[in-house]
Amino acid sequence: MPIVEVAISVPLNRTFDYLTDTEVVVGARVKVPFGAKKVVGIALSNKQKSEFSKLKPVEQILDETPILDKPILDFLFWSAKYYHHPIGEVLLAALPKNLRLGKEAKIKKVVGLPTQVNQPDFEITNEQNTAINSILTKQDAYHGFLLHGVTGSGKTEVYLRSTQAVLDQNKQVLVLVPEIGLTPQMIFRFENRLKTRVVAIHSQLNETQKLDAYLMAKNGEAGVVLGTRSAIFAPMPNLGMIIIDEEHDGSFKQQSSFRYSARDLSFIRAKQANIPLILGTATPSLETLKNAMDGKLTRLTLANRAGDVVMPKVSLIDMRTNTDGALSKLLVEKMQQYLSHGKQVMLFINRRGYAPVYFCTECGWKSECNHCHASMIYHRHINRLKCHHCGDEKMPEQTCPDCTQPSLEVYGYGTERLEETLGSHFADTPIIRIDRDTTRRKKALAQHLEKINSGEPCIIVGTQMLAKGHDFSNLAMVGILDIDGGFLSTNFRATEYLAQLLIQVSGRAGRSGQQGEVAIQTRFPEHPMFNFVLSNRYTQFASGLLKQRMSAMMPPFAHQAQLCANAKNKDNAQAFLQEVAGLLKSIDMNGVEIWGPTPNSIEKKADYYYFNLYLQSNDRAALHQMLATFSQHIDKIKLKNKVRWYLDVDPID
Ligand code: ADP
Ligand code: ZN
Ligand code: ZN
Repeated sequence: MPIVEVAISVPLNRTFDYLTDTEVVVGARVKVPFGAKKVVGIALSNKQKSEFSKLKPVEQILDETPILDKPILDFLFWSAKYYHHPIGEVLLAALPKNLRLGKEAKIKKVVGLPTQVNQPDFEITNEQNTAINSILTKQDAYHGFLLHGVTGSGKTEVYLRSTQAVLDQNKQVLVLVPEIGLTPQMIFRFENRLKTRVVAIHSQLNETQKLDAYLMAKNGEAGVVLGTRSAIFAPMPNLGMIIIDEEHDGSFKQQSSFRYSARDLSFIRAKQANIPLILGTATPSLETLKNAMDGKLTRLTLANRAGDVVMPKVSLIDMRTNTDGALSKLLVEKMQQYLSHGKQVMLFINRRGYAPVYFCTECGWKSECNHCHASMIYHRHINRLKCHHCGDEKMPEQTCPDCTQPSLEVYGYGTERLEETLGSHFADTPIIRIDRDTTRRKKALAQHLEKINSGEPCIIVGTQMLAKGHDFSNLAMVGILDIDGGFLSTNFRATEYLAQLLIQVSGRAGRSGQQGEVAIQTRFPEHPMFNFVLSNRYTQFASGLLKQRMSAMMPPFAHQAQLCANAKNKDNAQAFLQEVAGLLKSIDMNGVEIWGPTPNSIEKKADYYYFNLYLQSNDRAALHQMLATFSQHIDKIKLKNKVRWYLDVDPID
């Protein structure tokens, strides 16, 4: 009887053999018995012999044609190997849930073709024209581009025109955007311009919609697939170009289970498909800048804002002498000025809730989560303390558990408290707060945005959710609060991220005909980073950071992997990593350095203690050789120690 090799979604570095009456097409789904369960797997090869005995038969062949065709399988195999992640988990994770569950691969509702598309009412700039032409001369083979355009420089216009040219060749285009960037506005811009089906792939869709989008990408009916990171695995038989918008954004990296970077994988997918790749951003990551410097990416620059819009005026407000709480007098005055002229103002603060600390003014006790090493965040509207790491909540204590005094107070600001404080300064101005708490209800975000888009003067208070993808035409001023944590962080990338964030958020200010203004409150006004941010010289700043990274031999000049172990028993997590470190050191290190185990920046989360082992090498191949050895041996150590662990290749935080 023929035998079929099947990949199953289990955390093991192996595949499984089953008996079958007829050969199974490679890449098709099969239903097979696994333990006491029936599971869906992917057929990988047909063979006559197996190294295992007592094989069970395939229960059902679910597809007559491959659900994962050869190009996607090759790409997924490459990805699994690079991230040292079990192939079964990688293959199944690439499918929408309904296919993973064994449902029929059939489209329920075909997205219509647009009946009418609109052309823009402006001429493209010389810079845009040059960028588009450069891209179009490289349509027939792999070529990487960095589209470095300041905020508002019209990068999307470059994407749209390059995309149209690829569509004209009957090919498909994959566009990846950050989680917060895939707004209805962004989808509309593509749908409104291109004579093709545009399908979106993101987490807000229901499972039927996700399956439909996947299948329309797969059968070529969708000319454009617009999605967040997981769309990098969308099957597209006629793929002609990949665009990564806001390539510096951290959300391209998956931070659980299969920890891939869609940005990094886009290079491989573009190379395998032999097509152009465009990474667009106003604030390139240091990885991407290095790639441009090394000649791996051709740099296209849009140095000016499109239309008659100029860059905003950016200034600092020194908070060292401030005695007015979260809102300095100067900031309030500036806001008043814009509001009185009928403009909108946005305040950006990257923390939701009322206050991040609930503490005792007598003895210094502060409310911590029982399950995490983290403070509880006070939420006023429900009068609860909540842990943002594990979700635990409780009533606030009335008296101090340590000194029994009733001297408990909140410290610091979140969006909720800021909204309240603003209410006392600006009694007659509508305040619109946008964070995860105010947008949880379906359609809530859309309602908030509608109000803002009406253009009436208002104050918008928001978290990072607002940093990208929304164009508010009457927004004249942006205030940035409470960013100083970025200067105190232990993450070596913190200042890189902070500069990117400040520039992106500032980019929201100013529209046609009027210069916008940005005011940043900080207790570190003399930090050298501000010299660059204020004068809009991100590239010089980033080049300086790159030099520092080079002399310290840090990424992107060295390659890292993080092995994180966690257990309810602290010693077990540490002992596991010590054992792994011992094992790795006993083999040929070949220039790979090992640090740790060290406690995670938040050592305890949801009752588990987290420890890390870091591996680093200047030679990527040597590092990966070591990780491969590790993968071969790991199952034995794990059994002894009762720990959970994961490997993160190219970790970003
Ligand atoms: P980016 O993504 O670079 O921040 P967008 O692509 O969102 O910028 O463009 C900003 C605004 O400028 C959009 O409203 C867009 O329609 C407009 N725009 C783009 N190109 C031009 C142009 N050549 N002339 C006038 N307006 C333009
Ligand atoms: Zn106390
Ligand atoms: Zn917690």
